[in-house]
Amino acid sequence: MADFRSDTVTQPSLAMKERMFNAPLGDDVFNDDPTTLQLQRYAANLLGFEAALFAPSGTQTNLIAMMSHCQRGDEAIVGQQWHTYKWEAGGMAVLGSIQPQPLEPQSDGTLLLSDIAAAIKPDDPHFAHTRLIVIENTVGGKVLPLEYMRSVSELAKKQGLACHIDGARLMNAAVALAPRHNTTPQQMARELCQGYDSVSLCLSKGLGCPVGSLLLGSDAFIARARRVRKMLGGGMRQTGILAAAGLYALENNIDRLAQDHANCQRLADGLTVLAAQLPALQGKLTPLPVQTNILFTDIEIELAAQLLPYLAERGISLTASNYQNANGAIKRVRWVCHLDISSADIDKTLQHVSEFAHQQ
Ligand SMILES: *Cc1c(COP(=O)(O)O)cnc(C)c1O
Repeated sequence: MADFRSDTVTQPSLAMKERMFNAPLGDDVFNDDPTTLQLQRYAANLLGFEAALFAPSGTQTNLIAMMSHCQRGDEAIVGQQWHTYKWEAGGMAVLGSIQPQPLEPQSDGTLLLSDIAAAIKPDDPHFAHTRLIVIENTVGGKVLPLEYMRSVSELAKKQGLACHIDGARLMNAAVALAPRHNTTPQQMARELCQGYDSVSLCLSKGLGCPVGSLLLGSDAFIARARRVRKMLGGGMRQTGILAAAGLYALENNIDRLAQDHANCQRLADGLTVLAAQLPALQGKLTPLPVQTNILFTDIEIELAAQLLPYLAERGISLTASNYQNANGAIKRVRWVCHLDISSADIDKTLQHVSEFAHQQ
């Protein structure tokens, strides 16, 4: 009924399916699938790159990027919590023979420029050759501002390094930042990418596609990436049927991410009010600040053990992880808003939480 586990759970809309059904198809390994070519061209123009490559997942577009930038034995600077480091089964090390150099991010999701600079190894046979900086935006739902993105790409350029954005949810960042810069999300996304050598963008999250990610970069980079994609088994055939969904999403589903952000804020505000008013929740349920479509709430362990099954029985699915905050062990529960969660679903969810707290 309300699946908050991830924005990957979105179902393709009827209009998206119609676009898929009617897509002209070829063979993408022969590079002649017209719909895939159209998607790649559309995305490259949108984000200001020479070329793009369609691939099955964001894990794969990130891995392709890292393997196309780095040789065996090179090093990539990442954050401790980055998807590329922590959530991709160690692919860069296992499959790319790339050494990750993880850094601890700040609470706003940035890596300090001074930390990055200090991690870049001098040219010395003792060290791996530092080759790449990876930045994630959004990271844990947090938006990295344009000025910060620029400062990282300038640092990379000055040091002769490549830089890559894991922009699985880049469009959420663009939608959140656009009003501040008095521009459109599309123009904002393009500006966030400026100065970067490559970007990975998920179509299968908030943009609502069933499958697919894009990697963007220069013509020469994408030519290398195409070979790596083949090596990893990501060369598919009549991909136009999937690319059509991507075209529909890029044309129709970017601006509407603002609704997901508003719903997420509405959920956070509602939970804040309930936690302040109802004794069963007081001091035991704390919503953290929301910037885009992801809300984290810190919930006391025993409360979480009752509340989560209660909500699950009512069709409300969540993910939770064990976390250590200033008060000791807690459950950090993640609520992800997306196009299959309406504002009415938010209100119903708040009502269930309220009813639960009244029964305690
Ligand atoms: C989801 C995600 C990816 C890619 O995930 P896939 O499930 O492989 O498409 C990459 N980076 C971040 C930050 C993500 O959230």
